[in-house]
Amino acid sequence: MAKRAFITGITGQDGRHLAELLLSKQYEVYGLIRGQNNPKKQIIEDTLPAVKLITGDLTDISSLVNALQVAEPDEIYNLAAWSFVGGSFNQPILTADVTGKGILNLLEAVRIIGADKKVKIYQASTSEMFGGLPYNRPKEGYDEMSIFHPRSPYGVAKLFAHWSAVNYRESYGMFISCGILFNHEGPYRGVEFVTRKISTAVARISLGLQKEIVLGDLTPRRDWGYAADYVEGMWLMLQQPKPDDFVLATGEAHSISEFIEAAFKEVGINNWTKYIKQNQEFIRPSEVDVLIGNPKKAEKLLNWQRKVDFPELVKLMVNNDIKLQSK
Ligand code: NDP
Ligand code: GDP
Repeated sequence: MAKRAFITGITGQDGRHLAELLLSKQYEVYGLIRGQNNPKKQIIEDTLPAVKLITGDLTDISSLVNALQVAEPDEIYNLAAWSFVGGSFNQPILTADVTGKGILNLLEAVRIIGADKKVKIYQASTSEMFGGLPYNRPKEGYDEMSIFHPRSPYGVAKLFAHWSAVNYRESYGMFISCGILFNHEGPYRGVEFVTRKISTAVARISLGLQKEIVLGDLTPRRDWGYAADYVEGMWLMLQQPKPDDFVLATGEAHSISEFIEAAFKEVGINNWTKYIKQNQEFIRPSEVDVLIGNPKKAEKLLNWQRKVDFPELVKLMVNNDIKLQSK
């Protein structure tokens, strides 16, 4: 019989990649869709017609109980979140409710329907929990034992969710694995995130549709991987005999400037600085300067390996945006 998966955050970047992966593995895939007249619903219906959508919201436990009763999942992937760090400073309470408390609603819903002993759950934890401060930067990169020091309402909310997931695993013996994922990007990335903002703008500049890119701080460094590689890791975590936590990362970091330079190079522009403007609007109250992950545990125990490197990632994002902007 086909395995059944329930994905929250199905309309997001990872939800789409994960649904593609699970459908290719013959899963029956259910996704939680929120809001009235959600414009992203059409995208899922057009691109992934086999996915069955159930209306609900991570902040509404009754909708989660209903969704779980309909989906009867073997595996749950909790990807839903207010996921934009910059925006979390303006909506800290919403971020806490969705990104932080949301997992508690989901875990309690699982307990209410009595599925806690049979369902396997993935929680989307994040490198933002580490914070990147100088006192707390392991030489080999952050791993599963590193110290947490979140630097945004998003990071704080995710840390609450992470420890809640660990606590339910330890208290109730539930199969819950947390993936501590470093930044991962790709064609489905939201345009509010810096990589997609840059790849879209560079595509438009090369086509004569835009004159400049307005950004914030260009010095932070991120460990950027490709989202399709990372959803493979999520799935692998739930195929293990025991639940555990795993870092997924590439092990190398690049600055925003390096991303811009590589993106412009892809369209044959070398003198990229003349296209960049900076604005205070995109500077955060507190910044995470550098994040580098150490994925050795996932490589060893899950046999996980990222396939796409930094130059390939930039290339595929810019070329995808050129195609979209040329339509
Ligand atoms: P996205 O921002 O692309 O997707 C977020 C999803 O959450 C959307 O489907 C959104 O729905 C949904 N959502 C938001 N609020 C609610 C709510 N109240 N109830 C139900 N659904 C809601 O995120 P990604 O796909 O990039 O990331 C997936 C997860 O992994 C997130 O939890 C993120 O924080 C985490 N993560 C991501 C990393 C990355 O680099 N991408 C790194 C580490 C962790 P809608 O479309 O309706 O808005
Ligand atoms: P994050 O790592 O989850 O915060 O992902 P983002 O893509 O939103 O941001 C990555 C880094 O880019 C952060 O250090 C931001 O401060 C920096 N950055 C610089 N300019 C911008 C911008 O215009 N938009 C965004 N989103 N980030 C920017």
